[in-house]
Amino acid sequence: MSQDCIFCKIAKNELPSEKVYEDDLVLAFNDIAPQAPVHVVIIPKEHYESILSISAGDEIIGHIHSVANRIALKLGIADSGFRLVNNCGKDGNQTVPHLHYHLLGGRPMLWPPG
Ligand code: 5GP
Ligand code: ZN
Repeated sequence: MSQDCIFCKIAKNELPSEKVYEDDLVLAFNDIAPQAPVHVVIIPKEHYESILSISAGDEIIGHIHSVANRIALKLGIADSGFRLVNNCGKDGNQTVPHLHYHLLGGRPMLWPPG
């Protein structure tokens, strides 16, 4: 737990969120400012600042991907497709320094991203 981390507080139910999925390791909730009809944020409950905090052998990333798979099926965007995004650091436009993935779907995505 990082003291003033907003996602740590959401993970500990100290701040509210619209939960989509939860288990011992991860929490997924609707983004407060959705950029697509489906916009779910998937976080590890443990505080990692970014993907740069991940080491070889950490199983959390694989678990997050399997949770994204499960949520995409549950929300009906698996067949049409979706985007799973991690923003890292300043140029990656990471605004919350707690590792998270965006699951975006329900509309065609553009490439290249902005
Ligand atoms: P980032 O820009 O760091 O990749 O993504 C952070 C995301 O968290 C943004 O899409 C932002 O809308 C979302 N977010 C920030 N604060 C909150 C919050 O308090 N609740 C929820 N549900 N989403 C948040
Ligand atoms: Zn945190």
